[in-house]
Amino acid sequence: MPIYEYRCRDCGHRFEVLQRMGQGPEGLVCPKCGVEALEKQYSTFASNTGETAQRGTAAAGCGPGGFT
Ligand SMILES: [Zn+2]
Repeated sequence: MPIYEYRCRDCGHRFEVLQRMGQGPEGLVCPKCGVEALEKQYSTFASNTGETAQRGTAAAGCGPGGFT
């Protein structure tokens, strides 16, 4: 299940909720002030990691001078 981030429009508190895909803020309340004015935040955790995962694997393990 994905984790969604919500922000309280009343007090500005941000928190994460484990929810099923496609669920909205219905039934959720701010854990800090108890108000239902929640705004879904679209997480941007993957925005900066475009290329870094591809590097550093080509030269590992099969260089010269291993077993002889
Ligand atoms: Zn709040």
